[in-house]
Amino acid sequence: MDSALVYAAIAVAVILTLAISVVALRRRGGAQAIEPAASAALTAETREVETSAIVLELEVPEPAAGRLHRLRTRLARSNSAIGQGLLALLSRDTIDTATWDEIEETLLLADLGVGPTNEIIERLRTALRVEGGARSADAVKEALREALLALVDPGMNRELVTAAPNRPAVVMIVGVNGTGKTTTTGKLARLLVAEGRSVVLGAADTFRAAAAEQLQTWGDRVGAVVVRGPEGGDPAAVAFDAVSAGVRDGADTVVIDTAGRLHTKTGLMDELDKVKRVIEKQSQVDEVLLVLDATTGQNGLVQARVFAESVNVTGIVLTKLDGTARGGIVIAVQRELGVPVKLVGLGEGPDDLAPFDPVEFVDALVAG
Ligand code: GDP
Repeated sequence: MDSALVYAAIAVAVILTLAISVVALRRRGGAQAIEPAASAALTAETREVETSAIVLELEVPEPAAGRLHRLRTRLARSNSAIGQGLLALLSRDTIDTATWDEIEETLLLADLGVGPTNEIIERLRTALRVEGGARSADAVKEALREALLALVDPGMNRELVTAAPNRPAVVMIVGVNGTGKTTTTGKLARLLVAEGRSVVLGAADTFRAAAAEQLQTWGDRVGAVVVRGPEGGDPAAVAFDAVSAGVRDGADTVVIDTAGRLHTKTGLMDELDKVKRVIEKQSQVDEVLLVLDATTGQNGLVQARVFAESVNVTGIVLTKLDGTARGGIVIAVQRELGVPVKLVGLGEGPDDLAPFDPVEFVDALVAG
């Protein structure tokens, strides 16, 4: 009788232990399954991910679609000289040589560059000649819109490659310090998470003390894994580890922030080249995005040329377009490199990075 009771007690203890283990395993599994694809579908402002010890509040970033539309007033405000200024000049009763000179000056001040400025003036002259003396305000606006649009070139392929079959897509972010590289890397992670992608960030700017910390904060906010190395360590090693982590975790996209010290041109370029070669031991590099500060004008173009000579730039990110009247840089830099502007930064807010859309851009300029 006694031994039966003992057996029963042992059986109950075993069953209880098993049940507790199963619950614990399920919980741990649940905490690991941070699925951005599923999270992106949630509409709540934040969602909670339970881990064994802490509760992380992840933000749900704004969807990519419609961002440029939301931010268009920032573009229009700082670029009113292009839109409203040109429309006023073109609407004068007679457009004489002095007026054409003013039009030229306005375009040059907006950083369009000499070639594109001449081209736009030629297009406007032709369009307005066809219109004749009785130019309506609408016709003038349409002529300007068409001339600008032709130069921004809607035909360029602006697709961002952020997914690849059977491996993570790899995106390298390059550019000079201060242009907004780390911020752009963080904002891009949000954009990708909003699109349902799982993201690994590589903090390969090991020279700027705060860069890795900054990136960690961006990553933590949306649940992107951040791979870091020791301060002053080898950037290529961090990039390598980030891609390894992406492969191991089955991530969709690995985004690598790189260093941009301009100590010597050759030093920086050799370093970037090395980072790229080391990544390529594991994976193809799908995008090399060059970050340029739109407020730096001609200086930005010089930087663009230097980078393009050394790395195969696949797209341009123009930052700080909210703080400049030089929106013409979009046209100038595309002409200079033959590479499309793919993203634009229009503010310091976390979701103030938008996929570039030529029609939306020109409409914002012309609407003023
Ligand atoms: P990095 O040295 O190239 O990594 O530059 P950071 O990412 O640290 O950015 C430098 C500064 O530019 C920061 O204060 C950013 O907030 C700011 N910044 C970046 N992008 C934009 C933008 O699109 N608009 C504005 N207004 N500021 C920006």
